[in-house]
Amino acid sequence: MDQTVILKNVRPWGESATDVVIREGRIAEVGPATAMVEAQSIDGGGAILLPGLVEAHTHLDKTLYGMPWNRNSVPSNLVAKITNERNSKKRIGLDPARQSARQVALSVGHGTTHIRSHVDVDTEHGLAGVHGVMATREKYADVVDIEIVAFPQSGMLIRQGTKELMDEALSVGADVVGGLDPCSMDLDPKGHLDVVFALAEKHGKPIDIHLHEPGELGIFTTRLIIERTRAHAMAGKVTISHAFCLGHNDYLAIGRLLEQLAETGIAIMTTGPADYACPPLIRTLDAGVTVCSGSDGIRDCWGPYGNADMLERAVFLGMRNDLDRDDDILRAVEVVTTGGATVLGLEGYGVKVGDMADLVLIDGETLTEAVVSRRPRPLVMKRGKVVARDGAPLFTTE
Ligand SMILES: [Zn+2]
Repeated sequence: MDQTVILKNVRPWGESATDVVIREGRIAEVGPATAMVEAQSIDGGGAILLPGLVEAHTHLDKTLYGMPWNRNSVPSNLVAKITNERNSKKRIGLDPARQSARQVALSVGHGTTHIRSHVDVDTEHGLAGVHGVMATREKYADVVDIEIVAFPQSGMLIRQGTKELMDEALSVGADVVGGLDPCSMDLDPKGHLDVVFALAEKHGKPIDIHLHEPGELGIFTTRLIIERTRAHAMAGKVTISHAFCLGHNDYLAIGRLLEQLAETGIAIMTTGPADYACPPLIRTLDAGVTVCSGSDGIRDCWGPYGNADMLERAVFLGMRNDLDRDDDILRAVEVVTTGGATVLGLEGYGVKVGDMADLVLIDGETLTEAVVSRRPRPLVMKRGKVVARDGAPLFTTE
């Protein structure tokens, strides 16, 4: 029988202090707990209790974290970066299983309990990335949940054989159909989206499309995605990642588009990039659109940044969107918690009785103070088991 754990003196979402009793991996009681002989007691020290953070967009298969420093001299354009990465993987000895495990440890140390990772599928490396991340998913199943997006990073139609590999990836274990810039990458938006939606229908899987296309071009593609989401009755099962175009266009046009995204239940993933216009966070949320966030690539062939801390991501969202009021900053926290949970379709996400005991403790006077300070997380739990303490995972990866 599973041991009962009492998490004493914690503040759910920064509210008043209480105790949380955990049994069989779920929250069994919230309220003053009486001593139980068989229970293990953990002193929360008055820390803030949140459900585990949700990393809803990253690339576990390609991080170089823990490897010798990669000197980056790649021109700053999308195709150059994609080509460089595809050509570099073997030369630098990038092992997707080892590297994804390293990023998992980093994420869990920061309080992440769920990860959605896009994983490259292309005709040069085949399903090597998918198999590597699947191995990590299995090996670390008791510390984190990983969702795999089959991602045609080098294009779907311009490289013959990619759609067959995507199909195979979804048959062997990928959970989500990915896509990439249907106009600017494949130069064939109809063809690209036909393949993406057909794969989703065939495998009964959700969709998550990278859309970097700017301005009017991005708006055009977004309209096509809305139209197909309606036609395939996929409300609540489609995410557009980045959607920079929502930050590029005129006020009225974006308002219309946000209404349609809300109507069709299409979610938006934004990283709150420092260097690029992106969907306006509060306006997008106010329109009723679900928004999630993620680290995107961490220390990879694309760029040297990232540390997998989703609280830091909330700060980036706040800075990008000019959020200074406490209640606005808390909406950025919603994005990296409940927003991500909605997009990933998590059951029992939260800190109420009956919810999964996927939890993180955060030190802070208030939740906003905790977010801006980002001290090491005192404790992280996965299904009621402690998996990290004081910012460090309690497991090794090699
Ligand atoms: Zn990405």
